[in-house]
Amino acid sequence: MHCPFCKTEDTKVIDSRLVTEGDQIRRRRECISCGERFTTFETAELVIPRVIKSDGTRQPFDLEKLREGMLHALQKRPVSLDRIDAALHHIMHKLRATGEREVKTRHVGELVMTELKQLDSVAYVRFASVYRDFQDVDAFRAEIDSLRPRESDE
Ligand SMILES: [Zn+2]
Repeated sequence: MHCPFCKTEDTKVIDSRLVTEGDQIRRRRECISCGERFTTFETAELVIPRVIKSDGTRQPFDLEKLREGMLHALQKRPVSLDRIDAALHHIMHKLRATGEREVKTRHVGELVMTELKQLDSVAYVRFASVYRDFQDVDAFRAEIDSLRPRESDE
C-alpha cells in the first residue's frame, strides 16, 4: 500500500480491527518514510453480477423479477413461500460466489431450473420450456421423461 502523502511504497499496519459487524476490516497504517498515518477499509467484494441478455444488452440483476418468474412457474403448486425464498437465497448466493461482474441470462436461468427441479417438477417444466427454448418436441419430451421416476417416488 503506497503512502497517500509521499507515495513511498512501504507502509506498515499499526492496528487492524473488524468493523460493521465483522464484514469490514479497518486498518490503521503508518508510512515508514514520512511517518504520516492513514486508514484503509477492506471489504469482501460480494456484488451481484449484472445480467447479459441474449441480445448483448446488460441489465442490473433484478431479484423481484426473478421472484415473480418463479412464483409464476409455481402457480397453484404445493410449494410454500418459505421454500421459494430459500431457493432464491441459494441462487443469490451462487451468483455472488461466481465472483463474475457479469453473467449471461442463460446462467441465471440454469440456476433457477436447478432449484425448481428440487422444488416441483411441474414448475420446473413450465420454467424450462420458456427458458431453455426447446427447439424440438423430442428434446422437451426427453426432459419430461427424465422427471417421471422422481414423481413416482413421491
Ligand atoms: Zn509517506
